[in-house]
Amino acid sequence: MRRKIAAGNWKMNGLRAQAAVVEALAAEHGGADCEVVICPPAPLIPLLAGLGSGFAIGGQDCHPAASGAHTGDLSAEMLADAGASHVIVGHSERRTDHGEDDALVRAKAEAAWRAGLVAIICIGETEAERDADRTLPVIDAQLAGSVPDGATGANTVIAYEPVWAIGTGRTPSPDDIEHVHRAIRAGLAGRFGADPSEAIRLLYGGSVKPGNAAEIFALSDVDGGLVGGASLKAEDFGPIIAAA
Ligand code: PEP
Repeated sequence: MRRKIAAGNWKMNGLRAQAAVVEALAAEHGGADCEVVICPPAPLIPLLAGLGSGFAIGGQDCHPAASGAHTGDLSAEMLADAGASHVIVGHSERRTDHGEDDALVRAKAEAAWRAGLVAIICIGETEAERDADRTLPVIDAQLAGSVPDGATGANTVIAYEPVWAIGTGRTPSPDDIEHVHRAIRAGLAGRFGADPSEAIRLLYGGSVKPGNAAEIFALSDVDGGLVGGASLKAEDFGPIIAAA
């Protein structure tokens, strides 16, 4: 039985006062059945990790190297040292804004493992790829390219995030989400074997809201969600945690 995850990606939002959201969530959902992962901007990691909320704290990106001449970058070791246990890699905003390709995402996931972090590896098709009926081939290629050998349920979470659904208020139909998640599971089984692949949690991301979370999280092979905008307010993320 895979434990569901409610993961929040705050992106480039939140100053220190945003810690009040985690305190409010912990007060109401501290004993939730699901695993809660909050991924704030990196400067907030020590503050949030020190709250004793019981929630896991994650980074939003890491450099493949442990240290070195990479101005402005953060290593996975630094995130772990600051109190993170997870890190998102390959988010579509990184792939688009920073030209990150599958090989780099794979190297970042390996860096996460090296530092003892769980890698939340994001994949997802663009709207043009979806319209061209290329969703599954794109997903397969991203899985093959971005997920390193050695992925297990303990070190890896996969987030399926259709690019066109992120921050748009649009989501695929439940059937479409289930179809893609089944394909991801089958792809992982083909590569890693049936039992290991059963342990890897698959999150859906893209305009998850309090109003659609329960329906999405109930779909087979959906093990929770990666939530952007709706993770910034306790009144939105609280019901999403409850739905997971
Ligand atoms: C995301 O950025 O990972 C995301 C899913 O954003 P949103 O929930 O706002 O669509």
